[in-house]
Amino acid sequence: MKQNWIVWHDATQGEMAYAMECLRCGDIQKVATPINVDCLCAMMKAYAKNHRSCRPRNDQERVKP
Ligand SMILES: [Zn+2]
Repeated sequence: MKQNWIVWHDATQGEMAYAMECLRCGDIQKVATPINVDCLCAMMKAYAKNHRSCRPRNDQERVKP
């Protein structure tokens, strides 16, 4: 994923398993499991698109190209 401020938690994170998180606006999208892999891919794409233009909450957070 190009947007490195969008992270995806793996299955080891307990309650946060498979959750997607935007480190810029702090939004967390939990994913109900079990989920079809195709659905998950689509959700991740949609999530990344939604948060693609998010701005950092403060100027100290810089994303390197
Ligand atoms: Zn965001």
